[in-house]
Amino acid sequence: MVNPNSIEARDIAYVLHGNTNGPKHRDVGPLVVEEGDGIYVIDNNGKRYIEAMAGLWSVGVGFSEKRLVDAAVRQMNKLPYYHSFYHRSYGPLVDLSEKLISMAPVPMSKVFFTNSGSEANDTVLKFLWFRANAMGQPQKKKIITRNRAYHGITIAASSLTGLPHNHRSFDLIVPDVIRLTCPHHYREALPGEAEEAFATRLAEELEQRILEEGPETVCAMIAEPVMGAGGVIVPPATYWTKIQAVLKKYDILLVADEVINGFGRTGEMFASTTYDIAPDVLVLSKQLSSSYLPISAILFNEKVVEPIIEESGRLGILGHGFTGGGHPVAAAVALENINIIEERDLAANSTAMGERLRAGLKALEDHPLVGEVRGVGLLAAVELVVDKAAKTAFEPAGRLAAMVSDAMLANGVMSRPSGEAVLFCPPMIITADQVDDLVGRFKTSLDNVLESIVPAAA
Ligand code: PMP
Repeated sequence: MVNPNSIEARDIAYVLHGNTNGPKHRDVGPLVVEEGDGIYVIDNNGKRYIEAMAGLWSVGVGFSEKRLVDAAVRQMNKLPYYHSFYHRSYGPLVDLSEKLISMAPVPMSKVFFTNSGSEANDTVLKFLWFRANAMGQPQKKKIITRNRAYHGITIAASSLTGLPHNHRSFDLIVPDVIRLTCPHHYREALPGEAEEAFATRLAEELEQRILEEGPETVCAMIAEPVMGAGGVIVPPATYWTKIQAVLKKYDILLVADEVINGFGRTGEMFASTTYDIAPDVLVLSKQLSSSYLPISAILFNEKVVEPIIEESGRLGILGHGFTGGGHPVAAAVALENINIIEERDLAANSTAMGERLRAGLKALEDHPLVGEVRGVGLLAAVELVVDKAAKTAFEPAGRLAAMVSDAMLANGVMSRPSGEAVLFCPPMIITADQVDDLVGRFKTSLDNVLESIVPAAA
């Protein structure tokens, strides 16, 4: 009998959980996390877990960074809130903007702040449409995205997202979204097709779609350099070179959504550097503040932002902005967080620990359930199959990855399934011993699941 005053019972009574199966939640209740300690979180029964997803891909500096707490307290004491409407400003807004422009992977001109990745992407769309109108190109509004992309869940962002469970029964509000093939070589390449040939075919698909739609109607392509929530999809060799050549040919802007990729995750400060991408717009969040407080930032280059600024003059105002956008406490925390990432060279640690993690996972490639191990920097995924040669997924879809993720939880690891893959994105402060421990617990979990399904798989 559950105590009706327990936090679990009160959660079931009062909380509506996103990204959760509602009726199942009534039965199983919540896992209540109480404390953070480095790469670990501790539940209300005292059980310790490796947070192998850094929360939601975001707690880069770990769960107990005192310097971020101190930065927040200092700013709270000085000026707990202000905004940037009507020509107002304050220190952390300017300091963080200057810092982001100075560290951007390509020359950028201005920063606009929002509170979440979704809000940022909605804002990008609105600003690009505003710009198209300002430039006398009201027909140039279509946006290119890709299947399995994740760009958020607000009205416009969810339309850019390419995951069915984010669309079903919500309707797709934004028309004119052009959807391309997911660049996942393992699942989408033709038999025997090399990575380069696959990339060429995807660039041809892009060009074909632009020509079908009419280049004068296509505004921008939005993309995660490495797809995150869609399953850590690392682009095939030459993909970004070929895609960018097509966009340039037809004067189509590129928006890099580095909400997951940014701030060291791929082994460089930005994935745009890792893949030699020159975005016109760069979207940042998550590891910007290690999620200690919500904040997101959009960087625009001069070519994009100049017509927007001029149009605001003609209209008298840029009629867009959020109460909490660039919140002084969140901005102060973000600045301190970036200092920590730079001082400790956590991008280099992502490279070193990522290589160790992938080596450990690749050593499991002979395991009967492992189809593909992929990743870059400190992002990795293991694609699970029941028939390695035929790459056959377990039935029903997604069940195997969910079972492995459940087994990992029992073995003290918070992880995340996506489709047929189990994903890894631990805090960037992780050490070699902790990586080895994580791989060991993953192997145990795979074996636990294999034992439980052998009759079904045979
Ligand atoms: N873009 C990307 C690439 C993301 O991974 C996410 C969140 N996982 C978002 C946008 C949306 O961010 P938020 O959840 O803060 O709205």
